[in-house]
Amino acid sequence: MKILSVTSEIYPLIKTGGLADVTGSLPKALAAHGIETTSLVPGYPKVIEQLGQATTLLEFEDLLGERATLRHGHVEGLDLLVLDAPTLYDRPGGPYVDQHGKDHPDNWKRFAVLSLAAAEIAAGALPGWVPDLVHTHDWQSAMTSVYMRQNGCMTPVVITIHNIAFQGQYSSDLVPLLGLPPEAYSVDRLEYFGDISFLKGGLQTADVITTVSPTYAREILTPRFGMGLNGVLNERVEVLRGIVNGIDLDVWDPATDEFLPQTFDIANLRRKRENRQPLLDRFGLDADDKGPIFAAISRITWQKGIDMLADTADEVINNGGRIIIVGQGDHAIEQSLLETASRYPGRMAVHIGYDEPTAHLVQGGADAIVQPSRFEPCGLTQLYALRYGCVPVVSRTGGLSETIIDANDAAMSARVATGFQFHPVTTNGLRLALRRALHAYEQPKMWARLQNQGMKTKFSWERSGQQYAAVYRSLAQKASQPATGLRRLKFW
Ligand code: ADP
Repeated sequence: MKILSVTSEIYPLIKTGGLADVTGSLPKALAAHGIETTSLVPGYPKVIEQLGQATTLLEFEDLLGERATLRHGHVEGLDLLVLDAPTLYDRPGGPYVDQHGKDHPDNWKRFAVLSLAAAEIAAGALPGWVPDLVHTHDWQSAMTSVYMRQNGCMTPVVITIHNIAFQGQYSSDLVPLLGLPPEAYSVDRLEYFGDISFLKGGLQTADVITTVSPTYAREILTPRFGMGLNGVLNERVEVLRGIVNGIDLDVWDPATDEFLPQTFDIANLRRKRENRQPLLDRFGLDADDKGPIFAAISRITWQKGIDMLADTADEVINNGGRIIIVGQGDHAIEQSLLETASRYPGRMAVHIGYDEPTAHLVQGGADAIVQPSRFEPCGLTQLYALRYGCVPVVSRTGGLSETIIDANDAAMSARVATGFQFHPVTTNGLRLALRRALHAYEQPKMWARLQNQGMKTKFSWERSGQQYAAVYRSLAQKASQPATGLRRLKFW
């Protein structure tokens, strides 16, 4: 089976968060099921640079008025189609924002063009290669199935929602510029509270909708978590599935991690302590060897609740702990974190920036990872934490609620607890969870048990890969049986 995966980021070429980790590791998991994935990504400078030797497959003369070259190559086992369109992608900054942190003003076009190119490939633009199924991810590639259906291409499509907060919402004035007929602007199509939404278009036209945990699949059916799209999802609930993310066991392995001064595994957990001093040095924190190190590696946004960590820093620090935060995002929250850290020299450090080696070092040397998200589709940081012997302190929401087992009495006696959960998601809730974690840290046996139980937890792609493969196969099978086939929406 041949899959075209369409994504705005993919590890190790370009990453701003969990989306890249998933699109970068899922192909390997699917290969075990005889599924070959080819990933289409924009030709950002970093991607072009790492692509190296590539074959030119095709020139697109007119994608919404833009020219683009389709290149093909391989990087670390990934089969890549790169859409090289310098006018859209060759510029400073990240995939979505410029060097000053502002959204690229033409993001609508950058990702509509990516989607249009994907739709043309699905329809057979590449001689000799046609995918059996297309997998799109989030709003950035959601328009793929809109264009496919518009052009009469009925290849099955799976869309995965990695985070419903990002919806690709734009003015309806763009409809003609997107090359769409006026009917596209209607309530059962792209229309979205007076605007249009790329994600809504994808949800309306894909055959199956998945999201990254069963809990989040239930949550997004409610107004609180559905963020305006709950109505659309309730209408399509029969094709909505939750499949929890796996982790890449090669990229995140404390036994081989080249970013760690000292590697370790469950049989040699004591060696983890040798990463402690290098971590404290890296962040200029006091060198004494007592007290737990609580850390957060996260986008700094309201979603992630990191502001609550600033408000509860005193709980950790007054009880002998230290805090390390690595992340970037919302300027006001960044400032409040920096201001809090300045009140606790030697005890709290904040690194504003995005830095993969540092993220690994923090997981390797810290004792606890704090993830107080207000909503969390799946969350990967807590899964890496489990593997690296860090004890997660998390809010009970989305994927966090189903991947971490709270250290209550029952779970401790059953020897299954892996971390600390809190609910409701408030500053006081976090404060109490931090207090419980601090108390547990004072009992070395209990702490070691939590670490051990966490390290034994399996969040490989094995099971999730199987679930995606099953979704693909059942779709492909239905598509090949027109009589009993998929409910085909004639979109236009
Ligand atoms: P999200 O995708 O919502 O940002 P996830 O927990 O699913 O959250 O994935 C976050 C990924 O991004 C993890 O791989 C984490 O290590 C990484 N990450 C987040 N912030 C940083 C940062 N500042 N530096 C390095 N890696 C980061």
